[in-house]
Amino acid sequence: MIIGRRSLNHESNHHEEVGNVSNLTDHNLIDLRNAIASGKVKAADMVAACLSRIEGLDQELHAFEQTFPERAAERAAQVDAGILVGPLAGVPIAVKDNLCTTFGRTTCSSRMLEQYRSPFNATVVEKLEAAGAIIVGKTVLDEYAMGSSTENAAFGSARNPWDTSRVPGGSSGGSAVAVSARITPAALGSDTGGSIRQPAAFCGVVGLKPTYSRVSRYGLVAYGSSLDQIGPITRTVEDAALLLQVISGADANDSTCSDADVPGYTASVNTPIEGARIGIAKQYMSDANDPAVNAAIDNAVKVFEQQGATIVEVDLPHTEYGVPTYYIVATAEASSNLARYDGVHYGHRTDQPDDLIDLYARSRAEGFGEEVKRRIMLGTYVLSSGYYDAYYNTALKVRRLIKNDFDAAFQHCDAILCPPTPAPAFRFGEHTDDPLAMYLADIYTVTANLAGIPGITVPGGLTEADGKTLPIGIQLLGAHFQEEKLLRLARMFERATDFHANQPSL
Ligand code: GLN
Repeated sequence: MIIGRRSLNHESNHHEEVGNVSNLTDHNLIDLRNAIASGKVKAADMVAACLSRIEGLDQELHAFEQTFPERAAERAAQVDAGILVGPLAGVPIAVKDNLCTTFGRTTCSSRMLEQYRSPFNATVVEKLEAAGAIIVGKTVLDEYAMGSSTENAAFGSARNPWDTSRVPGGSSGGSAVAVSARITPAALGSDTGGSIRQPAAFCGVVGLKPTYSRVSRYGLVAYGSSLDQIGPITRTVEDAALLLQVISGADANDSTCSDADVPGYTASVNTPIEGARIGIAKQYMSDANDPAVNAAIDNAVKVFEQQGATIVEVDLPHTEYGVPTYYIVATAEASSNLARYDGVHYGHRTDQPDDLIDLYARSRAEGFGEEVKRRIMLGTYVLSSGYYDAYYNTALKVRRLIKNDFDAAFQHCDAILCPPTPAPAFRFGEHTDDPLAMYLADIYTVTANLAGIPGITVPGGLTEADGKTLPIGIQLLGAHFQEEKLLRLARMFERATDFHANQPSL
């Protein structure tokens, strides 16, 4: 494991002068926002730089399902004319293509929704645009957010910018690639069982899954409704704090969205936590992990200790049941949520059906990919009479035990430090023949969704694999609504290590 920085384009204090950065798209979110606000950078130039980078790179990386050059240029002109203002004025952002937008399509990287045009915007899209952000494109995901690699995307996978023979992770793979490849400074993803944190870790960027209900899900195409959350993918912790600030808060359109006050994440993110207690759970530190993964955690322990933190051991005894529990709850909810795609209410409609049943059957057979069908079948099975108690009800009980584990652990620590994944980015095709192996790799992310707690992954170092350098992430999990604490701890780590300054050479 190489613990160090590579291809340094950034100085450690990342609010550098604009002139020091050769490429406009190298700017982090806050730097860029400030540069545009002060007139040093024109939003129009920024958008043009971003779109030309997409032109240059996306053939190879395929982060984007669609782009909106004209609309983006129009909004940039409004920013430059002083008409469009706000905390994100002029900043290009990418959003996952399962977030509804009235512009473009909302495909979920599925043939089922290939032509779907939403009549409304997701609340997070409204909030980004009200803050002045410019949505330049929508990113590739595993179909309906079901997957960990973007290999389930119907219109082609995204590729990891560190090694294009490897997956970027998923399901928000395209968003992580856009940020990692310096195409946009920030993106939104969604996380049902790790889909923000895992691709962020695989691509060497920051990914934050907020507490369930912190961010409105209105306009997020539902996968597992009791697990889904939208969150930021950025290159720095401060940038994640800013995006979370913009997208959080109550929403009349989502009754599950919390009306708890939104703390000042951006105001506090640079304040270290004195005498922090960092929990380590042996269940997450398996010998089966890639050695570089455990080495990154060992190193992070040292970094936190150097910052005055105390390390405490915590016990999460039900961790091993996380994957089976998740794959029952998530598929059960998915089978219900995806029932609406029948070719009549929503989605692809088959040609010349014989009758109504044939229309439903063929529309769904043609519209959904293999993994989505597998999950609909699994979910239907665990909810069917005779199996409901044995599977679904049991899973709900285990889910409670997992939540209880976390509640008990957070009595003793401010956050739990753990790997986001057992190994760094894998190769395309490595797990495609064995869905179970793919599911098992979600072990360190699904528990946070089952418990509803927030989690953040930040760059934790680099490793070598087959002559290529790959990023390794570390994860911090916190108690419900403790995003502020997580961000402050993550920022302490980032400031001390500067791992976030590593970037893929493209
Ligand atoms: N990899 C997990 C799955 O396949 C998580 C996906 C997600 O968070 N959307 O379901």
